[in-house]
Amino acid sequence: MRPSILDPLFAPITSLEGVGPKVANMIEKIVPADLGDRAARAGDLLFVLPNSVIDRRNRPGIAYAAQGTIVTLEVWIDRHQPPPRGNRSVPYRVFAHDDTGEIALTFFHAHAAYLEKQLPEGEQVLVSGRMEWFNGRASMVHPDHIALASEAESLPLVEPVYPLTAGLSGKVLRRAVAQALGRLPTLPEWQDAAFLRRHSFPALGEALNRVHNPADPLDVAVEGAAWRRLAYDELLAGQVSLALVRARVRRLSGRPLTGGGALIDKLRVALPYALTRSQEAALADILSDLGRPERMLRLLQGDVGSGKTVVALLSMARAVEAGGQAVLMAPTEILARQHFSTIAELAEKAGLRTAILTGREKGRERTETLAGLADGSIDIAIGTHALFQETVAFQNLVFAVIDEQHRFGVHQRLAITAKGDAPDMLVMTATPIPRTLVLTAFGDMDTSKLTEKPAGRQPIRTVTLPMERLSELTGRIRDAVAEGQKIYWICPLVEESEEVKLMSAEERFAALKPVFGDRLGLVHGRMKGAEKDEAMRAFKDGETRVLVATTVIEVGVDVPDATIMVIEHAERFGLAQLHQLRGRVGRGSKPSSCVLLYKDPLGETAKRRLSVMRETEDGFLIAEEDLKLRGEGELLGTRQSGTPGFQVARIEFHADLLEAARDDARLVLARDPDLQSERGEALRLLLYLFGRDEAVRLLRAG
Ligand code: ADP
Ligand code: MG
Repeated sequence: MRPSILDPLFAPITSLEGVGPKVANMIEKIVPADLGDRAARAGDLLFVLPNSVIDRRNRPGIAYAAQGTIVTLEVWIDRHQPPPRGNRSVPYRVFAHDDTGEIALTFFHAHAAYLEKQLPEGEQVLVSGRMEWFNGRASMVHPDHIALASEAESLPLVEPVYPLTAGLSGKVLRRAVAQALGRLPTLPEWQDAAFLRRHSFPALGEALNRVHNPADPLDVAVEGAAWRRLAYDELLAGQVSLALVRARVRRLSGRPLTGGGALIDKLRVALPYALTRSQEAALADILSDLGRPERMLRLLQGDVGSGKTVVALLSMARAVEAGGQAVLMAPTEILARQHFSTIAELAEKAGLRTAILTGREKGRERTETLAGLADGSIDIAIGTHALFQETVAFQNLVFAVIDEQHRFGVHQRLAITAKGDAPDMLVMTATPIPRTLVLTAFGDMDTSKLTEKPAGRQPIRTVTLPMERLSELTGRIRDAVAEGQKIYWICPLVEESEEVKLMSAEERFAALKPVFGDRLGLVHGRMKGAEKDEAMRAFKDGETRVLVATTVIEVGVDVPDATIMVIEHAERFGLAQLHQLRGRVGRGSKPSSCVLLYKDPLGETAKRRLSVMRETEDGFLIAEEDLKLRGEGELLGTRQSGTPGFQVARIEFHADLLEAARDDARLVLARDPDLQSERGEALRLLLYLFGRDEAVRLLRAG
């Protein structure tokens, strides 16, 4: 249960004064928290951080205030001059002076009573706003702030400017934030005191107060101590929660998986090629992990086409040698089938029994597979998340390989864990993720990398081509087909809906049909499973030569003799996706090419993306560029799938803090694995504060 000290922050924002349902809706658009289905809470407002400030500290006196600048003036109110009755086009003027000169405070459509109260004649007031000079006369139109001199502290001299959404006024938002801030209880410090001192980090309350009530523009700077403190809190919350998940996964550990290597040897013999050096190294890492009594949790990173699948297969064989079962889980059905078709054949030669399980297996086939999994007659199961539905039981699941991990969340990781006797886990990702992102997304995981491509691969020639030259391209593709080449033709990713996506592929198919006749195939996400399989098979077997596809083929599909990849509307794809798609070709020994068809005019980012694609094939370089060109959440696909990203931390500014948070989390949990010490208790509050309480529940579950 959430500690009650946090209750005021967990009340709905509508409990704040001036926040009704309408304002609440608008606020929900700007809070950085990933709300999911829940309504925004007061505490979410704490992390709506200003993106700049208006500096009102300049107090030059009327005569010295420069045209157009923001100034704060301390003036005496002399007299009010309302507009003539019935003439609303003349403004309401209030004349005032200070030691240096006179000024007219000017208001359109003013309420006299309101102004009389705000600017009483004979009183001294502070006004802050933009200075205007006209014909030697000073004026200020609608001052941003007015305060009686006796209440000067109510005027923000450094005013935070928040991100706004249409309809939401800065004033309303500031007021709501101020109230949220007022609700912040005094919480025990969860950070290490020495660490705070070393970095000159303020306490949480002080940090929040500084960013929301800045005294200096530095107070709201991303690199400033206040912001960094908050970022560190958030990063630590993330690292602690990931470490807790990991510790739980590990705690359930048990058996070392060992074997004589007979199965692995048989597979090696069956392979039509020798493993690359990095495949060997990764396999050695994995086998050594498996042989240990602790549970394995390893990330296998390797660019598209680097040959992760075979590494997975050989390690699964070890699990079988050790007397257990293994699963390989893919994010899509096409991919699962793809893996199955490569693996099953090889596995059979080594005497391994395999089966596939996706949402599509029904009836008797399904019943038989389920029975085989339950009684242990199936050694290796390949499938989608259908593998961890409730009806699926394993006799002795000891090893799980998860392909393209970033599409699965922590939940799924735990679900698969529950299926077996603490299965060892190998997570494979084709997106070469920069190290910082590995840390934020997976925590402190052991990593193996496939750094080289299998021998004999040829570089892929990448060209960009404007849409106007489509017919020229079609001609060249016709020649390529005549030479016996295979071509992927990827259709525009249209974001609005799956339906539109489908249409564009079908339209392209229809347009190309007269040229290619029955050498043309089509595959898209809306087709029935069997139709998809058939389309893929026909392409693989060479019956069709040009395959028009939506991005369903994006990940993992393997047709080694495909040599040309055409990507239509390449400007609409992200770098990672372009790289993934391009990786579908260049898998055989023949030279391949990739044609990026684009539509002018290109935006700056699109231009940059396309040129990165032309310049390099290095997945890690591309991933780094991608990180620069867009936010880190998008790169991991988290924005789409709704995994909480970061509210405060900005990896590009706070990467150093991320490393520190990783070490800190490790240290804390080594000493206090159940978060029961004083600092541990405080850290639980931190987890709640940043919405990482899922990890706290794990603690309770033991
Ligand atoms: P990915 O890492 O993208 O999942 P795959 O495992 O699909 O890559 O492998 C891509 C292709 O490379 C497959 O056709 C596979 O058979 C082949 N392959 C894998 N390892 C080697 C190797 N050592 N030598 C030659 N070809 C290999
Ligand atoms: Mg793959």
